[in-house]
Amino acid sequence: MISNPSNSSQSASLEHNETHSDRTSDLSNSHQHGTKSPVDHARIERAVREILAAVGENPDREGLLETPARVARMYAEVFSGLHKDPSIHLKRVFTESYDEIVLLKDIEFHSMCEHHLLPFHGRAHVGYLPDGKVVGLSKMARVVDEVARRPQVQERMTETIADMMEKALGARGVVVMIEASHSCMTMRGIRKSGGMCVTSSMRGIFRENLSSRAEILGLIMNPKHG
Ligand SMILES: [Zn+2]
Repeated sequence: MISNPSNSSQSASLEHNETHSDRTSDLSNSHQHGTKSPVDHARIERAVREILAAVGENPDREGLLETPARVARMYAEVFSGLHKDPSIHLKRVFTESYDEIVLLKDIEFHSMCEHHLLPFHGRAHVGYLPDGKVVGLSKMARVVDEVARRPQVQERMTETIADMMEKALGARGVVVMIEASHSCMTMRGIRKSGGMCVTSSMRGIFRENLSSRAEILGLIMNPKHG
């Protein structure tokens, strides 16, 4: 169901084999209402208790008693995109003769770096040059949100969104640019704050045609009005 092969193999590697079959059946039901959460909360709670003990904390002290359950709920939320196919939001397209650039800027997102399980957050800019088909702007924002809610690296997130847009719209060009600040850079390691990581994916005319590329980059970089 998840259209990005790298993400489905990645989700499998997150869990031991014994839960893999559960996960697969949950994935196939993920768009029905009322199915129970595919996330094993009890297992996360046990793991969080272990981490607390391993770093020298007392998981039974008052302030930490509810922490494992809270962390389990948080992970279920921030990784909820693993159990969804975001491209479903792009299925409903409209026939339009509009043939200029459509660009949705500053789509705020929060994601989790898969290398450290620390948050990275920022803004995505998603645009395309239609070829007879357009999609609702809010749908583009939903795609960004759901792709972000997985263990991620920013580079793959950028490509995944571009792949989905390209495939769903058959557009003449697609651009995705993401600017993000990574906690694994700012709170640990080299501890440099303020460093923004920028990634982009250009498809079709934005890759091939220099003036089209310059036009879309100009629109993305332009200071905001008002
Ligand atoms: Zn990281």
